[in-house]
Amino acid sequence: MSRNKEVTAAVVTVGEELLSGETTDTNAAWLGRKLASLGVPVVRRWVVGDDAEAIAAALGAALAVADFIIVTGGLGPTRDDLTRPAVADFLGLELRSDPEIVADLRNRFRARGVPELPVSNLSQAEVPSGARVLPNALGSAPGLLIEHDGRTVALLPGVPREMRGIVEEVLEDIIRDRFEGRLVPLVHRTLYTTGIAESVLGELVDEVRAGLPGEVDLAFLPGLRGVSIRFSTRARAPEAAELLDRAQAVLDPIVAPYRIGTEKGDLVEAIADVLERESLTLAVAESCTGGLVAKRITDLPGSSVYFRGGVIAYADRVKIDLLGLEGAVLVENGAVSEAVAIGMACGVAALLGTEVGVGVTGIAGPGGGTPEKPVGTVWFAVALKGRTRASHRVFSGDREAVRERGTQAALLLLYQMLADRT
Ligand code: AMP
Ligand code: MG
Repeated sequence: MSRNKEVTAAVVTVGEELLSGETTDTNAAWLGRKLASLGVPVVRRWVVGDDAEAIAAALGAALAVADFIIVTGGLGPTRDDLTRPAVADFLGLELRSDPEIVADLRNRFRARGVPELPVSNLSQAEVPSGARVLPNALGSAPGLLIEHDGRTVALLPGVPREMRGIVEEVLEDIIRDRFEGRLVPLVHRTLYTTGIAESVLGELVDEVRAGLPGEVDLAFLPGLRGVSIRFSTRARAPEAAELLDRAQAVLDPIVAPYRIGTEKGDLVEAIADVLERESLTLAVAESCTGGLVAKRITDLPGSSVYFRGGVIAYADRVKIDLLGLEGAVLVENGAVSEAVAIGMACGVAALLGTEVGVGVTGIAGPGGGTPEKPVGTVWFAVALKGRTRASHRVFSGDREAVRERGTQAALLLLYQMLADRT
């Protein structure tokens, strides 16, 4: 914590509801990202209930490890809001009523048709001696900034919107001024991949790891749609960008076959690009994914240009009556099969008059599996102007995971087929 060392932050979030899990501590997560991007990384966090002793203990511990401490919550007007007195008491500061805040509170209440300021709100006008008031444009409790022993402590309201407002409107600038020359922002870049398991991707990356700049950290972030590689560095621009470029140059050849090179890393964006460029139209027939493929496609604004519609062909009867599958094909192969997936893709393209059709059929579980076709088996097919390609996977996970993964796999096959023809 000496003058020229990098600055660090700690966060204390206050509220019984955070401990019990009724409210998710989004403030801590948001502050973690915000402070890292500003160059004051959060090195430790505490969550405490509405309890003066616990608040003081957490603040004491935070002061021992960080230069800048943010406490959120407990600034409200009710008896369970103890942050203000607890912090003032712990730091040996006197609380005094601030006439400007009282006047501001009075105006706020008048504007809402309440002529008398409720007595309980007077607590929100109390300011520890020497503290700076951080105006809260979105609510009644202002934030407070206290300098103590070379450290800075900010008390902010718990309401996420108000907390964020104060940080972005006033605190960011204060942090930049206060720690000028010592801020080293965390910068990162993400490569989005799909169709490869985290462990396999990790092994591929291990082969080139020695070539990565030492100052760059890698993180593998697996999700149901794929695995993202996030690489980050704490360095000043333009050095940071140069380090990330060097890291990406090492990773690019490894990742290329699995990479989704669009801005948000969504396959659907890449699919849309090709469909639009090639003036192709698309229809989908879905069984186990129940419309998720259509949802993903239509999540993208402007999809009406190429997307015609879909059929949720859950029952065999629908596959036969609407998509034109032959009953015998269903009986011989079973509903979850290559023949049926292809039949669905071709059938929906014919029904809706599109160049491209997608078919998905599978067993999402938890019931319905057999030894030959266990839960998680999904067949998907793409028909493109009469050419067809089909593939299947046996996905792990619960019903939601199988449906989400099946959707992503069907979209990946669609993308690969579109990419191969261009
Ligand atoms: P408080 O300032 O403690 O009175 O909190 C006001 C409201 O903000 C509460 O109803 C909480 O649900 C919400 N809140 C407080 N702290 C957090 C937090 N760390 N993350 C998300 N919401 C919070
Ligand atoms: Mg509270």
